[in-house]
Amino acid sequence: MSGKAELTINFIVVGGGIAGLACAIALRRVGHHVIVLEQYSDADVLKMSHGGIRLPPNVSKVLFHWGLEHELRKLSITSSAMEVEIYETGEFIGTHRWEEEVLRVTGGDFLFLHHVGLRQVLYNAAIAAGAEVRTGTTVTSVSGEGPRVTLASGETLLADVIVGADGCSSVVQQAIVGRNVSAAAPYQSLFYNTTVPGALMRADPQLAPFFKEPVETMFVWLGNNRSAVAFRMGGKDEFALHLWVPPRQKGLSDDDCWGGGLDLKEMRRQLGECEPRLLKMTKLAATPARVQVKMVPPIEDWVDEHGRMVIMGEAAHPLPAGSLQGGAMAVEDAAVFARLFSHLRDKDQISTFLHAFQDLREDRCASVVHTEQCNLYFQMMPAGPQQEQRDQDMRAKTAQGESVFGGGEASEQWEQLKELWGYDAEDEADDWWVKWGLLRERAKQRSLDMEAEMNTTRLSCLHLRA
Ligand SMILES: Cc1cc2nc3c(=O)[nH]c(=O)nc-3n(C[C@H](O)[C@H](O)[C@H](O)COP(=O)(O)OP(=O)(O)OC[C@H]3O[C@@H](n4cnc5c(N)ncnc54)[C@H](O)[C@@H]3O)c2cc1C
Repeated sequence: MSGKAELTINFIVVGGGIAGLACAIALRRVGHHVIVLEQYSDADVLKMSHGGIRLPPNVSKVLFHWGLEHELRKLSITSSAMEVEIYETGEFIGTHRWEEEVLRVTGGDFLFLHHVGLRQVLYNAAIAAGAEVRTGTTVTSVSGEGPRVTLASGETLLADVIVGADGCSSVVQQAIVGRNVSAAAPYQSLFYNTTVPGALMRADPQLAPFFKEPVETMFVWLGNNRSAVAFRMGGKDEFALHLWVPPRQKGLSDDDCWGGGLDLKEMRRQLGECEPRLLKMTKLAATPARVQVKMVPPIEDWVDEHGRMVIMGEAAHPLPAGSLQGGAMAVEDAAVFARLFSHLRDKDQISTFLHAFQDLREDRCASVVHTEQCNLYFQMMPAGPQQEQRDQDMRAKTAQGESVFGGGEASEQWEQLKELWGYDAEDEADDWWVKWGLLRERAKQRSLDMEAEMNTTRLSCLHLRA
């Protein structure tokens, strides 16, 4: 197998975020034509996204496989440890180390970098691979008939397939499902996303120890309806700070604004009772972005009735804001999708491949979304007997010299991690092709052969009669 599709077709990808750009790279790798339409201009993007993103091994290995390891490592730090503390008091609860063996088996690394850095690496790779990326281009409507997209400028573009990688306010999701599922879901907490200059932290005696850990460490604070995560990033000398707090007031809605530019004081007002180091970090932080954290129910239809439009990334399976696996699920989607379309020989296969994509991805994504929701609950558990038990269990493990989340090859955690991080997106698509795709092709070929045979027999009968 050359890896390139026998038949190449035209894709329009709506949204040039992580999912859209990864999709463009992956589709170009198998030979298809791709146009990406992104509403923000390059200048807007640089101004907007300024937080940190974590790439777990299941995604870093896909990006390495696409030849992006060198570029990513230039902008990232590689982490292998986590330290847990109490949000309100700063009490040290324990540590967790990802064992080298776990990382080796999964084939990737834990990378921390700026969201804008990741986006730039993907953007450059998409252009280098031959995709056309039109920034500053807003899509106002889409239709599976055609299929076509209409731009804010009034221009209409046609393609063979439309991919909706347009995030939580997706116009493609709206066209397929008939409503915006994310917008309708109630919000449960607020997520603030900001960065803190490394130089300012190192100059502060209370914050300087964050830079003196023996290995690169992610810091997690567990609080009463609040939580925080901080980690050093590669590239620019900065720490990322993620903060989850309760909604400002029950029933009050806040605007989503990943772009940032929010008043720092607003974030600090939401801190509640918190330990002095966190308070200091928020005093030194850049203007944050604020996003609503929603628990969105699974979206049932990812493919439109004509079998020509599909959604992926946040548009298909929204995760709580700030999730560890947010970027990872978007890249895995792209890898599976393009691998399916590497088998394209005939336009009749398009609808089958779009439905196969949903079949292959929906259980994996639903399970990861559920895990992320549980993790967030664990981090923000309200004060009470359950929270006390959680903290006691972790303290006991630390007292025995163990990792707070257990570990070792015999543990349950090892099994879960193997499943989560060991997932190979492209293998999943290849397995589907071998199990189902080829069978369908052969069945179709057999029925065509039989039809041809019957036609030949009919013709020879006619000849005989004549
Ligand atoms: C500006 C921005 C900054 C972010 N910063 C961080 C961060 O610092 N840390 C973190 O963990 N996560 C961040 N995220 C979220 C993260 O990117 C996602 O959780 C995850 O990576 C999956 O991304 P996605 O590509 O599916 O969706 P998104 O990242 O939401 O990307 C969707 C893209 O589609 C574009 N789009 C939407 N509607 C239209 C339309 N009608 N026409 C054209 N284009 C459209 C959007 O502008 C956006 O670029 C950010 C998201 C955005 C949009």
